[in-house]
Amino acid sequence: MVSSTRSAGYEWRMNAPRPLTSTPAARLDWREDGAPLAKGFDDIYFSADGGLEETRQVFLRGCGLPESWEECPVFVIGELGFGTGLNFLATLDVWRKTARPDQHLYFISVEAFPFDKAQLKRALTAFPALKDLAGELISRWPGRVRGTHLLTFGNISLHLVFDDIGPALTGLDAQVNAWFLDGFSPAKNPEMWSEAVCAHLARLSAPGTRLATFTVAGSVRRGLAGAGFTVEKMPGFGRKRERLEARFPGTFPLTAKRPINPLIVGGGIAGAGLVHAFARRGIKARLLEPYADLKTAASGNPAGILMPKLDLQDRPESRFYNAAYLYARQLYARQLNESHDQIYGRGVLQMAGSEKEAERFEKIDRYQALPTDEMALVSHTQAEVLAGCRLSGGFGGLYAPSALSLSPKGTVLTLRQAAEYICDKAVRLTRSGKLWQVETAAGVVLETKALFVCNGANIRNLLDMDVRFTRGQLCWGQSPYLPERAVIAGHYAVPFLDNLLLGATHAHAGAGEDIAVRPEDTQDLLAAGRNMFGPSVLPENVQARTSVRVTTKNTLPIATQIDGGLFVLSGLGSRGFMLAPLLGEYLVAQALGLPSPLDKATQKRFVGAFVA
Ligand code: SAM
Repeated sequence: MVSSTRSAGYEWRMNAPRPLTSTPAARLDWREDGAPLAKGFDDIYFSADGGLEETRQVFLRGCGLPESWEECPVFVIGELGFGTGLNFLATLDVWRKTARPDQHLYFISVEAFPFDKAQLKRALTAFPALKDLAGELISRWPGRVRGTHLLTFGNISLHLVFDDIGPALTGLDAQVNAWFLDGFSPAKNPEMWSEAVCAHLARLSAPGTRLATFTVAGSVRRGLAGAGFTVEKMPGFGRKRERLEARFPGTFPLTAKRPINPLIVGGGIAGAGLVHAFARRGIKARLLEPYADLKTAASGNPAGILMPKLDLQDRPESRFYNAAYLYARQLYARQLNESHDQIYGRGVLQMAGSEKEAERFEKIDRYQALPTDEMALVSHTQAEVLAGCRLSGGFGGLYAPSALSLSPKGTVLTLRQAAEYICDKAVRLTRSGKLWQVETAAGVVLETKALFVCNGANIRNLLDMDVRFTRGQLCWGQSPYLPERAVIAGHYAVPFLDNLLLGATHAHAGAGEDIAVRPEDTQDLLAAGRNMFGPSVLPENVQARTSVRVTTKNTLPIATQIDGGLFVLSGLGSRGFMLAPLLGEYLVAQALGLPSPLDKATQKRFVGAFVA
């Protein structure tokens, strides 16, 4: 028997997953000098006595920075308590002034009560010296979205883990070189300083790791010493008498960059995501793809959309979908160009098609798993104003203002431009010791220790995976009548360059061979367009295209190492543009032994099934 419980006004079955909500809010008071104060903890985020100088003294100098990272190709900082991001910005500032372009910094920070964007902006005005860097952080800020977020700043990766300290540390997968312990004071915020936390710090520390904090509380010193750190009191900053420095046993590792000469099979959005993730780490990947114009891949469609995936339940994959969307939109906003027809438009409407769907959208809106500036409920009338045209059906919908209509080809070619491109087709895969050998249609054999297979439906020629193939047909033509932005209502309609694109069908594609255009599907798509907008929608000189999507039985993507040095990125379905950038980062981190942008629970969800 299942009993039920009340939560935020809704009935939820005890055994069912809870809804995905935003994180708890940071409840703030603002002091006269402009600094924020945490109401719940009755404590400050930074000292009025020169917050920036205190950060530099306590945390950077406390961990021997910047000298400690001088010789390290990769340096990993872990922070407990991201707060206003002051420690991060101070680190970013010194890194940019001292590190070489071939070095990479990971800054992993845990925060249970992230600021919303307006709070962050207001707090950081206290540091005019960091104004530009603060602007970079604010423009990438995910808001109060649960889960692990990747924010990139060239050769710096910021992993923001928005969760309570316990689950956040349990899910971490990294080897940290320097710790900044910056919870509120131990008396007011004991969870941030517990023995369990100290044990996690030890588990996640590389040999010789340094640690710094502002407090010298006895419980903290004992906790750290019990976990294996050597602890030392140092003279404090400003009015504080003392601070702590600690070291983990061992010698500092100078992890040399692994000699990895990656080979990526497949140049669609999955391959492009991998190329970009390697390039960010100074590695030029080889990319094997027969069609420079992406002739057969879904990435060769004339227009596509990047839209959040709406999920009501709090599961690892739903947190991941939000993080993947936010990362993709952040990346595309920086890499793609509106004037070069890579981005066709901003803002996507998703209309409810039934009373039941409208109720589901209301719940999604009420739980605010994404902030209102990313996803808001709109009435039917508001939607018509946003679309600039009449919409059929009487229901409202959800509006994602920073969702994108984009050129798939423009996106893919931009992301993969750093690759060494090999125009050929993979036909056979064999293994010889630690080497993977890929035989091509031209009879060449390419060798690598790190092989990435992401060739869409052609995966069946190389590997036996448990995947499904789905035909997706779409059609487009010049239209006298164009909505102002993309609309999803069962099917989707995307305005681009005087054209309207209507998509897409979903039909079983057998073993993945069936890509012939079906005239009856085109007629169905045109009928769907008329249904959405009324009879005036009639693209002229209609063209159509079919591609095959790869999906999995459980609908989750596959992103995993299936054998030593053999990685697969597949099963992206119709969500390639949302999923590929973050999954690409994840697989590259796996291949190079670097901190993962996905927590451990999420990683487990994407292993797929390898049949052979
Ligand atoms: N490093 C921050 C900065 O540069 O602004 C200041 C951090 S502030 C002193 C302490 C932070 O710990 C707060 O942002 C607070 O929300 C966070 N925190 C408190 N309890 C937490 C918990 N149980 N799990 C995760 N974070 C927590």
